[in-house]
Amino acid sequence: MIRIAIANQKGGVGKTTTAINLATALAATGFRVLLIDFDPQGNASTGLGVERSARETSIYQVLIGESELNAAAIATQVPRLDVIAATQDLSAAEIELSDLPDRTRRLDKAIERAEARWDVCLIDCPPSLGLLTINALVAARSLLIPLQCEFFALEGMSQLLHTVERVRGSFNPDLAILGVALTMYDRRNRLSEQVAADVREVVGDLVFQTVIPRNVRLSEAPSHGLPALVYDHRCPGSEAYIALAGEMIARLPVPAVAA
Ligand code: ATP
Ligand code: MG
Repeated sequence: MIRIAIANQKGGVGKTTTAINLATALAATGFRVLLIDFDPQGNASTGLGVERSARETSIYQVLIGESELNAAAIATQVPRLDVIAATQDLSAAEIELSDLPDRTRRLDKAIERAEARWDVCLIDCPPSLGLLTINALVAARSLLIPLQCEFFALEGMSQLLHTVERVRGSFNPDLAILGVALTMYDRRNRLSEQVAADVREVVGDLVFQTVIPRNVRLSEAPSHGLPALVYDHRCPGSEAYIALAGEMIARLPVPAVAA
């Protein structure tokens, strides 16, 4: 299974929007996709139409060993896309896990135990560098970093990269950075352009060519419990995510053989 964490400790940079729409694009291409909502806010679950009442078995139960991914997986309206829901309980996991010896490998082991039911696993991380994000980085083989086209975009990147180095050194030497995705680009705003140019200068080829525009359809879709790609597959935001998925597939370490 290809395992990709989507992380940035900055809040509201487009992690969840990217996770939902990339997952949908990959599923549309034929991959069997599992999206793990790894944020106590549960935004990925909501955005994929999972009602709160349907979140009885969530990623929290999996982490504490009360359930397994296979049992917790919920089918979405998108063919081939399943989600593991998150609830507020997950914030307690940060504390509860800290007493366990394998506290950084709980998610990794859960994915290991899951049957080969999915081709790709995306992990939507919370906006912090705590134990949850560490678990995601230990479980993943690749990291995708969404970066919002705004003034402080690069602030915090060094902290994230430092965490990646630590994870590589201690737990997961294979962790690679798949790429940086620029989000919420506003072409009428010179600042967006400037930030995108700065990021490309600092981060270089790691930055995906595709830039996700600021697009109101992307922000409306979650309130309908649908990925933007389903809500309005022709809006500029959806088109950009389809292009980003294509670029991402080309960068994956495994040949893109889909059903
Ligand atoms: P958090 O750190 O809280 O988990 P996040 O990084 O997951 O946030 P999102 O939830 O994806 O970020 O996006 C933050 C807000 O911005 C949401 O309301 C979302 O609908 C909106 N948004 C995300 N991307 C875009 C975009 N390209 N254009 C317009 N709105 C967007
Ligand atoms: Mg989020």
